Amino acid sequence: MKYIFVTGGVISSLGKGLTAASLGTLLENRGLKVTLQKFDPYLNVDPGTMSPFQHGEVYVLDDGAETDLDLGHYERFTSTKLTRHNSLTSGQVYARVLERERRGDYLGKTVQVIPHVTDEIKTRIRELAESTKADVVITEIGGTTGDIEGLPFLEAIREFALDVGYSNALFIHVTYVPFIKAAGELKTKPTQQSVAKLREIGIAPHLVVCRCDRPLNKEIRDKISLFCNVPYEGVIEEKDVDHTIYEVPLMLQRERMDELVCQLLRLDTPPANMSHWQDLLRKLIAPQKRIRIGVVGKYIGLQDAYKSVYEALSHGGIAHDCGIELERIEAEQIEKEGAEKLLKGLGGVLVPGGFGERGVQGKILAAQYARESKLPFLGLCLGMQMATVEFARSVLELEGAHSTEFDKASPHPVIAMIEEQKGLMNVGGTMRLGAQPVQLQVGTKAARLYGAFVVNERHRHRYEFNNSYRAQFEQRGCIFSGTSPDGELVELVELRDHPFFLGCQFHPEFQSKPNAPHPLFRGFIAAALQRSSL
Ligand code: GLN
Repeated sequence: MKYIFVTGGVISSLGKGLTAASLGTLLENRGLKVTLQKFDPYLNVDPGTMSPFQHGEVYVLDDGAETDLDLGHYERFTSTKLTRHNSLTSGQVYARVLERERRGDYLGKTVQVIPHVTDEIKTRIRELAESTKADVVITEIGGTTGDIEGLPFLEAIREFALDVGYSNALFIHVTYVPFIKAAGELKTKPTQQSVAKLREIGIAPHLVVCRCDRPLNKEIRDKISLFCNVPYEGVIEEKDVDHTIYEVPLMLQRERMDELVCQLLRLDTPPANMSHWQDLLRKLIAPQKRIRIGVVGKYIGLQDAYKSVYEALSHGGIAHDCGIELERIEAEQIEKEGAEKLLKGLGGVLVPGGFGERGVQGKILAAQYARESKLPFLGLCLGMQMATVEFARSVLELEGAHSTEFDKASPHPVIAMIEEQKGLMNVGGTMRLGAQPVQLQVGTKAARLYGAFVVNERHRHRYEFNNSYRAQFEQRGCIFSGTSPDGELVELVELRDHPFFLGCQFHPEFQSKPNAPHPLFRGFIAAALQRSSL
């Protein structure tokens, strides 16, 4: 078994996750079984309770783990299925160590960062390797070298390399090489210093991946090689991509990164065949058609809050050789200016998931506009819930219909917690998380798109469609095209007299990949294309 550790230096947001995921793609295409793991040095137990402003999207795995969005890159770029073992925060490490301490497991010893915390971290790497039987485990350490909170992780991976033998472990440092305008040149000093910082801890990187906005010339590569003590070929250029993140694997392949990694780890493999990836990239960069899709959300200004949704839309585009032009629309803006002004002329509108009241009315107005003007609509989780609220208010004329998340006293709680629906107040209130089976109803649009009877989809929500309103909805043209296998929980709704109006209680965006676009996104883009060709 081989271990690759990816650290980051100088600044955050360097795309360590993408680098790790892209290396994973290349190694998989060399025939290796790869798994990826993320260590996050913050003290939160998981990002589940963190604000999107702080953390971006919470990415949910099959087993219900709420994780960092980098795990989304790992799943999209490789064929690995991740579980909670692929994600570790300092919070989890300390929680486990403290639990042991209370149980008396340390037999009266003083409990310390070294060796107790570091041992716990090392165990997690070993456990993952054993449970996945991967040829290569790629572990990404979040944060930036030099951060106090990251030290135990760095110490742990240093020790780990010693434990498994130096020929089985490889360190890759992702760093920043800025272009300084006034000097007219790229500067290597920050990289030198961040590598020096790593070496102080006892880690000497084998490869330095340099994020830059222009090519590294020979002189710069020589300098980094010399001062950072890596061979010339170990200086890898990772220039800002021109179009899409899916360019990164090919860029790293051109820099022969995977070749070097295999050489250093003594992995005898054929070169990666990336022709399918090239094909997919062509469709992303030079698609035959283009379509404008509106996304109506509450964190529209943030790059990362709806990451998987944006990715899944682009995958839906790939399926039709169609480029997606995203219109990011602030839900509150719709409340101010009206839906027509902001949504007119789009090929389709998507309302993603969310929590909290801000912007909810704008989402309802977006659903109404899409329903009335026959604009293709895809509602995810909260997006689906607000579409049903809209239907209840406008079509069923249930005044004051709402979700009890926003109006506890609503006379028509069409969306409510299951406990509230059954009259059991104050019970539970915990989230429904992770993959659950969805039974599809034969003859519906959803069943046709999936081409299946039962599918597994990932969930992250608390509120459900209120079953006492089902009959009324059905009478007026709403179809419940997917439910839990026992029929109790509504999973999918669609409208009969509409070219494409679909809402799902789950999050299909988490399972879409560039080479396997999710059926609902594929269908949504198809409908949008159809509308614009009319
Ligand atoms: N807030 C809603 C619920 O908890 C929707 C959640 C979501 O969109 N992820 O049910």
